[in-house]
Amino acid sequence: PFLPRVNPSLGAITLAISALVATLVIACPCALGLATPTALMVGSGMGAENGVLIRRGEAIQTLKDVNTIVFDKTGTITKGRPEVTDIVPAEGHTRKEVLRLAASVESGSEHPLGEAILRRAKEENLELYRAEEFEAVTGRGVKARIGLSPRRLVLVGNRKLMMEEGIEYKPIEEDLRRLEGEAKTVMLLASDGRIAGIVAVADTLKEDSVQAIRELEGMGLKTTMLTGDNRRTAEAIAKKIGVSRVLAEVLPDEKVEEIQRLQEGGEVVAMVGDGINDAPALTAANVGIAIGTGTDIAIESADVTLVRGDLSSVVTAVKLSRKTFAKIKQNLFWAFFYNTVALPAAMLGLAHPVIAEIAMA
Ligand code: ADP
Ligand code: MG
Repeated sequence: PFLPRVNPSLGAITLAISALVATLVIACPCALGLATPTALMVGSGMGAENGVLIRRGEAIQTLKDVNTIVFDKTGTITKGRPEVTDIVPAEGHTRKEVLRLAASVESGSEHPLGEAILRRAKEENLELYRAEEFEAVTGRGVKARIGLSPRRLVLVGNRKLMMEEGIEYKPIEEDLRRLEGEAKTVMLLASDGRIAGIVAVADTLKEDSVQAIRELEGMGLKTTMLTGDNRRTAEAIAKKIGVSRVLAEVLPDEKVEEIQRLQEGGEVVAMVGDGINDAPALTAANVGIAIGTGTDIAIESADVTLVRGDLSSVVTAVKLSRKTFAKIKQNLFWAFFYNTVALPAAMLGLAHPVIAEIAMA
């Protein structure tokens, strides 16, 4: 008497449907129970074959609802191995001295920009000065004291660093803008409180970045580039690859806030990144996607890892998620359809047990 049961005062049709549903559930329709997990298993297996490793199961589900994909620039859209392209000395300095000073300061740096400068100095067989009191200023650049006595404070970094240190860089502003317009990342060099020159580097795009962005846009997704690089450089690169939105001059610890702002605006966000500074943003995003060639901490923070470093894998991941869900719906439909038809048929003695066995399989 305490168990809820089908109320006999219901209409005949309602009563019949209630009884049918109860029978279907009790009869343990395996097909219904298997519809979702098998699709998910096959989906993630196919992902793995195609270089898309799903580390958290929900990701495959959330990814189909994503409407914005945010890409980190360096190491994600680009190869992350910048090369020095231009060295412009300020008045009273030589090209060689600019490179030598910059490389001496960067000798303590692990940033790809610093490595580019060091590689170039090595190629030109320059002997470096000894650097002391090295300091990396997040999102801005580096500084160190150079030479014997008197030791000079030398800075290498962006406008923000120069402004904070009170360095006047007007004399080279024109060169700076020109190089940034060419999609190059430009670093200013200051020695003893005065501007000494600039060093420009360029990073090559990954071969399939343009194609992948175009496909994602074609699938109705809004693509966004997120970078600490300056606005003019970022926009020049964005134009080359066709992303529809650029968030530039974002400090590493602000990347998370940018993701959260997009989410507050109602967007469902996937973030693709490779660096240590992307890790918090990868966690904050609805789906975090790490480039497999990136840092371990990025991979640890992400839901999905792309084994190959290319952006086409992002397209694969989104398609995989959408197809897996279409398959789940299809499975559920057929499972329910089969049980609804076959169970009553069997009860009416219309199916021989052998036929039932075959139908079940
Ligand atoms: P991202 O990896 O998104 O390009 P970062 O936060 O690493 O951005 O760097 C942002 C900016 O800070 C760089 O574009 C550069 O101007 C400056 N910067 C950072 N590290 C260095 C460095 N070692 N030498 C010179 N400039 C640097
Ligand atoms: Mg990066």
